[in-house]
Amino acid sequence: MTARMIDGKIIAEGIRAQVKQEAEEFKKQFGFAPGLATVLVGEDPASQSYVRMKHRACKKLGLESFHHSLAATIDQKTLIGIIETLNADPRVSGILVQLPLPEHLDEEAVLATVAVEKDVDGFHPVNIGRLAQQGRTPGAIPCTPNGILTLIKESVDEISGKNAVVVGRSNIVGMPTALLLIRENATVTICHSRTKDLPAVTRQADIVVFAVGRPEMARGDWIKPGAVVIDVGVNRVEDSSRERGYRLVGDVAFDEAREVAGAITPVPGGVGPMTIAMLMRNTLNLAQRMAQKS
Ligand code: NDP
Repeated sequence: MTARMIDGKIIAEGIRAQVKQEAEEFKKQFGFAPGLATVLVGEDPASQSYVRMKHRACKKLGLESFHHSLAATIDQKTLIGIIETLNADPRVSGILVQLPLPEHLDEEAVLATVAVEKDVDGFHPVNIGRLAQQGRTPGAIPCTPNGILTLIKESVDEISGKNAVVVGRSNIVGMPTALLLIRENATVTICHSRTKDLPAVTRQADIVVFAVGRPEMARGDWIKPGAVVIDVGVNRVEDSSRERGYRLVGDVAFDEAREVAGAITPVPGGVGPMTIAMLMRNTLNLAQRMAQKS
């Protein structure tokens, strides 16, 4: 069997087109565009590049964007003051604090300062709590996990009752993805670095998500025939044949897994494009909700 490719670029493009159209309508109705504010502490090149991509996406889709680039040495109080200013700014619909923060800052306290109704990443403790509870609706769902769920929904008729395995339990990817799959009535197993005989666990999965950060860790024989495989990992491996000296691979040995899986995401071009599309969607949703309230 050769797996069907789950094309995140095309699916993300559809979401972006919809956001663009709704953002135009929003602007016509309310006289201003939904706005995303980003806060970046320090000069990590990868974080700088992610933030640039987010602003570029805002521009393309007709959303306003604001950026605060802060010194790595900023103290907690000043950072919290900046977030409080953004909380009070009516032009800002969503606030995103780019993670990770430098060690001396208290990430939990910083994320809790973002107003719940502007928590565009869905990382505020109230929103994560709502995600984990039955019958509650988070104000926003974390972007990468929501992108993963959207790709899964495009690939299976029904999630309910399926065995889903999520490898990785981070606050930003693994854990919220597992919570989303539980909300969809999958039977979910969460794996991590202490899991014993990981391949035996992933082989039971109808749906398997790898969010680890280890190049091509999952081999073809880790996959149940016909399973849906979502590869979140983005890993650089040396490649002297490339001008830049490296190429990107996922957590899954793609060529092996595609011979066994029913559907699989490529890296790049799978989960990656979904994250920013979902961020744009969340920004618009928050703006729409706030406008309705006022
Ligand atoms: P973290 O490093 O925060 O978490 C990695 C998780 O993998 C941890 O739960 C860890 O377990 C687990 N793990 C590590 N080694 C093993 C192992 N040998 N076997 C099983 N589990 C293991 O990473 P993130 O969740 O932030 O990111 C994961 C990957 O996804 C990275 O490659 C990252 O670049 C990528 N990513 C991609 C995004 C996109 O938009 N495409 C967005 C965000 C991330 P433990 O908890 O026990 O330490």
